[in-house]
Amino acid sequence: MAQLSPRMQELLQPHLTGIEPYDPNFTPTPINLSANENTYPLPGAARDAISAALSVVPFNRYPDPMSNNLRDELARWHGVSRDAICVGNGGDELLYNFMLAFGGEGRTLLTFPPDFSEYAFFASLTGAEVKRVWRDSETFEIDADAAVQAAATSNLVILTSPNNPTGNLADLGLVERICDACPGLVMVDEAYGEFAPADASAVPLLATHDNLVILKTLSKAFGAAGIRCGYVLAPADVIEVFAAVRQIYSVNVLTQAVARAAVGAREAYAPVVEQIKAERTRLADALRAPAAPLADDSAAPALEAPVSVTVWPSEGNFVLVRVLPDASAVRRRLRDEYGILVRDFSYAPGLENCLRITVGTPSENDAVIAALAELTGEGR
Ligand SMILES: *Cc1c(COP(=O)(O)O)cnc(C)c1O
Repeated sequence: MAQLSPRMQELLQPHLTGIEPYDPNFTPTPINLSANENTYPLPGAARDAISAALSVVPFNRYPDPMSNNLRDELARWHGVSRDAICVGNGGDELLYNFMLAFGGEGRTLLTFPPDFSEYAFFASLTGAEVKRVWRDSETFEIDADAAVQAAATSNLVILTSPNNPTGNLADLGLVERICDACPGLVMVDEAYGEFAPADASAVPLLATHDNLVILKTLSKAFGAAGIRCGYVLAPADVIEVFAAVRQIYSVNVLTQAVARAAVGAREAYAPVVEQIKAERTRLADALRAPAAPLADDSAAPALEAPVSVTVWPSEGNFVLVRVLPDASAVRRRLRDEYGILVRDFSYAPGLENCLRITVGTPSENDAVIAALAELTGEGR
């Protein structure tokens, strides 16, 4: 792993000396199912609305700092008022700002790993301590009583629903209990919320819990990861803090225009989301099914037997699979021999030999299913 120079280790703030240089080793791969992007074409109505919006964007002026036109569209959608919304340069910026404003030295953030690694990273950048209640190693469910007990002595909590990378939902009863127990703010990260049943969202709980913050993004269901746009829904006084700490022009005019048009055309995305959900079931079922034995003349030599594949149920646009005995080898061969990139979590505690595969288009999923059947075929 790359290391900072000794000079930089001297000069850095003491709590940052563990950071690693960014690894620019990015290999373009024909089928990229590694980042939970939406790989479907934009719906026609959305493309038209976005093109029209982009054609009249004034580049010469600074953007509206608060993205008010976009906020109004989001407010209409979620049935809240404009002052309950703050827009950011991706959900990541809002996660960082959450820790910047409410974390820091002497504060603790409670998380439920395995979850999104950025939470602990951003906490560490601000000097906050991370407290962890680990999910069950087989089901990835959260022990509710342990969670509530830990929340009572934490300044901040982040719960992810559906969780990345395990795919399961947070129980809304548990969200309420955690909000009641925690003296500070509780964020529910719903980056993948559009792929889950509508009644699984914590948004209605905003009306009854004044320490709840909900994170959303246009990077997943809206297929707009490249524009960098996310937002939080929260009580107005919390939004005032998000608004006060943010980089004033972080959401540029192009992003605001595209996001507003996309959210305005949200109905057009529903069939894509439904198709991704159907493909998620098809992909998971196919990966669970025992592969047919390899033909003798198959070009791809199978991995050393025995190979076993476990697939967890998912409410997101991805599936988590455990491939024994060596998931990293499978991931490498998928990339090098089949041109398919998936995400390797083998290194992550609690996710030994796990790969996360984004649900792609039908033909991308066919390619994954066929490749994995070949790679794992012989041992099953
Ligand atoms: C993708 C993702 C986000 C936000 O991503 P952005 O592209 O920065 O909006 C937030 N949380 C989780 C769990 C995610 O997977």
